[in-house]
Amino acid sequence: MKISSNFDSGNINVIDASNPANIRLSINKDNNSDFYQWFHFRLTGAKGQLCALNIENAEGAAYPGGWEDYQACASYDHETWFRVSTVYKDGTLTIQHVPETDSVYYAYFAPYSYDRHQELVSTAATHPRVKLDVIGETCDGRDLDLLTIGEERDEKKKIWIFARQHPGESMAEWMVEGILNRLLDDDDALSRELLNQCVFYVMPNANPDGSIRGHLRTNAKGQNLNRDWADPDPDVSPEVFHLRNKMDEKGLDFSLDCHGDEALPYNFIACFEGVPNLNQYNLDTAYMFGRELERVNPDFQNEKGYTKSAPGTANLGMSTNHIADRYDAVAMTLEMPFKDTVDSPNQETGWSPERSIKLGHSSLDALYAVLERL
Ligand SMILES: [Zn+2]
Repeated sequence: MKISSNFDSGNINVIDASNPANIRLSINKDNNSDFYQWFHFRLTGAKGQLCALNIENAEGAAYPGGWEDYQACASYDHETWFRVSTVYKDGTLTIQHVPETDSVYYAYFAPYSYDRHQELVSTAATHPRVKLDVIGETCDGRDLDLLTIGEERDEKKKIWIFARQHPGESMAEWMVEGILNRLLDDDDALSRELLNQCVFYVMPNANPDGSIRGHLRTNAKGQNLNRDWADPDPDVSPEVFHLRNKMDEKGLDFSLDCHGDEALPYNFIACFEGVPNLNQYNLDTAYMFGRELERVNPDFQNEKGYTKSAPGTANLGMSTNHIADRYDAVAMTLEMPFKDTVDSPNQETGWSPERSIKLGHSSLDALYAVLERL
């Protein structure tokens, strides 16, 4: 029996794996940071044995509330993911499972691999409406890929969609995959009309280093990118530095920043209530987007979410606040659960790649409904 994590987005530390009934593990911190919660590892040679995989440092994770009512994700082929029995007790997260084969993966959420990212971007680039630009390099020297979809003309609305500032929130890139697939479907009349009126700038992975390193929340240098928007330093947060410069160059009318929330079992959006000089019309447009998304996709709701910032107290280091303020635009952070949705659960899969993809499809319906207000 062996446990390994030396692969794309792998993260686990093995304390003792000699006894299947008490496999002792811990999650490594993000490099140069105290954040940790993402895990992803492979167990081999345990076919047919009852295994108890104990993550002993679960209590000190970034969001221990994320472990309550959480079921871990597992896969035999690294493609189809399902949930397995998981208990959080006395600060330890225990996954109990009898593997059906000699190779099984466990992860905090279904990973979105770097290979799949490259395939997504390259396949999109074969479409005649798509232009691919590498707008900069990460600290580890990886490409920051930006897709431009639709002909760029001044009078068109500029729509920005990006994901994985927080790399462990892999559901965010699954959602962007859904958005791209629908946008590039020439048989989809709504997508064709959106592309007549808008140009889309899409960055499916804003933090490839953190994703590959198996981080929860930071880039290679330990920066939480979604706190660095006010004054991004090109040496430590090149991802934000280059993305924001590109937004300055191209303009921005609407921005959707895709995330996952560890604790809350809901899909919801967070907006920009606390920015200085709040534009109420833009805020109403963001709320309208939320209502439309709920109408077309019952996995989404508007009742539960984060507490809204009081007037003037917004953190302008966060992308949505910064963007709404900087471009006087409609901006939102869309959060998906690691767990499941309380109102529309699926016990076998929990929240999943497939459901994230479909939420991506639906988000274009909601965008279309608010387009004339942008
Ligand atoms: Zn996030």
